[in-house]
Amino acid sequence: MPDKPIREQFQTDSQRYGNEKTIEETFSNPYHPLDNELKAALEDTALLSGPEAFAFVWGPLGTSPVMTEEEMAEQFVQRHGFESLSEFKEVAARAREKVADAIWIYELIDAYRFPDFPEECAECGRSLGGMWVEPDDGPSPLCRNCADIDTERHFPS
Ligand SMILES: [Zn+2]
Repeated sequence: MPDKPIREQFQTDSQRYGNEKTIEETFSNPYHPLDNELKAALEDTALLSGPEAFAFVWGPLGTSPVMTEEEMAEQFVQRHGFESLSEFKEVAARAREKVADAIWIYELIDAYRFPDFPEECAECGRSLGGMWVEPDDGPSPLCRNCADIDTERHFPS
């Protein structure tokens, strides 16, 4: 139960690791962020080059009008410095992998910093409420009852 407030207090966010940029500065209107603003911000990261940022925003992200006609798409990407549509697609695929890696890093850090609590005892099914025992063998996790944690029984007087 107490994990929510802590998680919110110590969020895994970029500011925590030294990023000084903010969303408010990045988008002139946060309710209507623009393709070009996103592209500029992505390009400004250590991860994506200019062409990769462009290809990501106009490729895999897919928020801009879909270019259904190959010929139109070819002309469009050539106007933006790509040799061909296939080059654009290659760059877009590379950008997509890099973005996936970045999000994966976030997910890893978050899962490490805030591991989930197991919910119920593997034996009796009672709710664990953040207190559990992981025995060396047998079902796990267990509530204190099933784990037989009982001072009287363990240390008979
Ligand atoms: Zn139990």
